[in-house]
Amino acid sequence: MRISQLAQQIKESPTLKLNEEAMLMKERGAPVINMSAGQPANKAPITAILGSAAKLKTGEMKYTPVDGLRSLKQAIIRYTEENYGRLPAPENVIVSTGAKQSIFNALFSILNPQDEVIILAPYWVSYPEMVKMCYGVPVIVTPEDGSFYPRFEEVERAISSYTRAIIVNSPNNPSGLMYSEDFIADLVDLCERRGIFLIMDDIYHKLVFDGRQHTPAYRYTTRDIDDSCIIVVNGVSKLYGMTGTRIGWTIANRRLVEVMANVQGQITSSPPVISQAAAEGALTGMQSIVENLRLTIQNNRDVTLAELRSFTDVRVIRPDGTFYCLVDFRAYSNDSVELARFLLHKALVVTVPGKEFGAEGYLRLTYSGSVKEIIEAIDRMKWALDPNAPNEIYIGDRKMVRDWL
Ligand code: PMP
Repeated sequence: MRISQLAQQIKESPTLKLNEEAMLMKERGAPVINMSAGQPANKAPITAILGSAAKLKTGEMKYTPVDGLRSLKQAIIRYTEENYGRLPAPENVIVSTGAKQSIFNALFSILNPQDEVIILAPYWVSYPEMVKMCYGVPVIVTPEDGSFYPRFEEVERAISSYTRAIIVNSPNNPSGLMYSEDFIADLVDLCERRGIFLIMDDIYHKLVFDGRQHTPAYRYTTRDIDDSCIIVVNGVSKLYGMTGTRIGWTIANRRLVEVMANVQGQITSSPPVISQAAAEGALTGMQSIVENLRLTIQNNRDVTLAELRSFTDVRVIRPDGTFYCLVDFRAYSNDSVELARFLLHKALVVTVPGKEFGAEGYLRLTYSGSVKEIIEAIDRMKWALDPNAPNEIYIGDRKMVRDWL
């Protein structure tokens, strides 16, 4: 019996692996702090809870249209009009089981074997794996100047006759940085000239700090959605902290959406009806929850930066959004997987190795938890690595002495 060579090449999600290890340690009673989560800590909005409860009460647990409940699509259309200044038709919208499925579905619907997709480093770990799962070829553009901002010329140079799409995630997981408006405008122009899709993964577009605002790619085109190369992906996971709801959506030209609906119809059919009701509740309810979440996370970002400032020789670029930062630990190790494991075992802090995001020597830290946890986690990391930090610390109720520096 054989297993597909392609499937065997697909990497295990690194975050899940470390989390599993951390969970086992926690079960044994170790006071582990998780700085690797990909989700905010808040509870779901009450309107999401009531929306799904009302649906549950009807007892109608049936399939919905493959591309989503009409009423949810209407809510997404209104959201798009308010936040993107564009009014999609229902035929431009498809709801999926998480933005993850939206992106995979879009790639599957665009790519032929050996087609190329440009991915900007540092990148979300799933992009290259998804491209490979569609028999495509991920082409990674790594900024030559060592920054997290690829220059437009570098992207342009990576284009070949096989390029079918560019994926952009801004603000970015893992760096937290937002690309400049000029850069996005240039990408829109490039994609229009070359007939390439521009996949805008806008999942963090409301989690932007310091009074800045995310600029929709639509702003740089006069084409309407049905003529546009822009594919917008969004969802409720990060917007409302509803990761387990598994609802994402895509806005694209209707020909592509039709194909995506056929593909989805053969795999998962419609997303779960209760989840769709929850997403609709969140989208049509009070939006102050999003602003509250944003302010909490912005404060956490500031605490994280302040704590890192006194960490000898680590460097971090101030994130513009998300709840991640990518911290340069190369002064301590060039092997981020080893370093993450070391920190888990010595300091009981879970981080994600930058190697997985195309940024070896860095660790991704999530600051969506409590301020207390953030401070304690960074203190523990300093204790484990920084010779200038005190060599004694309490981890849980145990006094630990550093004897390896
Ligand atoms: N895109 C990015 C950049 C993400 O970080 C995530 C979640 N980690 C997703 C998409 C997937 O979101 P969802 O939970 O809606 O599948």
